Amino acid sequence: MALKDLTRDAVIAAINEFDSVGREQFLAKYGFAESRRLFVQYEGKSYDSKALAGAAHAFLSGQSSLKASEFSGGWRHAAGVLQHLGFDVVDRVPALTVHDLVRAIDRLRPATVASGPMLKQAVVLLWAIGLARRGADRVLTWERTHAELTPLLTAHHRSGERPEGRPDYPVAALYRAGLWTLDTSTSVPAAHGDARLRRWFDEHQPEGGLPEPVYELLRSSGVARVQVVSAIVDKFFGDFDYAAVTKAVGLEGDSVVDDDLMLPDEDAGIDDPKRDYQDLIAVVTNREPSTRGKRRPVVGNDPIRLAAARRAVLLRSEGFCENPACGKPAPDYTERGHPVLEVDHVSDIATGGRDHPVQMVALCPDCHAVKTRGRSRHQLRERLLVAARERHEAWAGTAALNGG
Ligand SMILES: [Zn+2]
Repeated sequence: MALKDLTRDAVIAAINEFDSVGREQFLAKYGFAESRRLFVQYEGKSYDSKALAGAAHAFLSGQSSLKASEFSGGWRHAAGVLQHLGFDVVDRVPALTVHDLVRAIDRLRPATVASGPMLKQAVVLLWAIGLARRGADRVLTWERTHAELTPLLTAHHRSGERPEGRPDYPVAALYRAGLWTLDTSTSVPAAHGDARLRRWFDEHQPEGGLPEPVYELLRSSGVARVQVVSAIVDKFFGDFDYAAVTKAVGLEGDSVVDDDLMLPDEDAGIDDPKRDYQDLIAVVTNREPSTRGKRRPVVGNDPIRLAAARRAVLLRSEGFCENPACGKPAPDYTERGHPVLEVDHVSDIATGGRDHPVQMVALCPDCHAVKTRGRSRHQLRERLLVAARERHEAWAGTAALNGG
């Protein structure tokens, strides 16, 4: 008995049984777990490939089914045999999550100089995220990659970084970490052997860019973008002022997190604004100590955190003034679909207020004017502090424990 004896008819008989008893019972009967990646596509339906192969064996004359432990489901075994019999076998690569990407960034091992990690890989990643944000081509020629990265790497580095201004080093390192694709059939030489690596890129002129799932995630989601940029800054920059780099690559201010997701758009998938809110709060909370001077001398002006906090408050407003005595809809929306509301720090940061959505509100222009200049501004401020906290707690769920 062996997989190679399988016939197309036997597999179709197994498919028929799968259809008639249902997936759950079929898997239970033959003792297989659900496939995680490899599925047979047949007449518009999909079937767990390994279970199908094992069960099909029972439809060969004089044979019984194969057990899950008796063979492998991979391409070189069950999936390959099914494909050879003319079935479509698809690999459902699991969707990339922002947490996967943050973990991949955290696993990078940049070389260090006296003041901290070398910035090259961070600069390359931030540049590519800027491209994704603008919806530019994912894959670029080496000539263009080289031409765009050389001045960036020359301008933004720690003192003592070598070799200076050369994109081949960080690109090769990111390629090895699975965070870059290079269109090449020969292997990229190790980053040691300085001249050799440069020569390899010169000779092969590989096209390259972020891997497609990474690019798609960073193109389509401002919330993912701000989480990933924050992770890169955490990992590489420390006390080093990153804002010049993010500005140079088009990720300055709100653009790091800004996108069209506030518009109802099923493809963009704003199905869960509270989860987006919580992800943004996680960025704000993670970055808050560093900008309150505990980790870093820069106080109160971390562009990543500011952008994440503002975006969170606008999301939470759902397009209505957050003054509970008002609640009017925003008078208009911006071109990108954001409500025209003022995001206000209820307590002045200079006098100890927190730069965090728990003390921020979205106000209509009238309420903002009253809060700024009205006689009743002091009473209003007290009411807004309560409202901000209540709104935050309603949206942040368990994140409120950390954020409040
Ligand atoms: Zn209002």
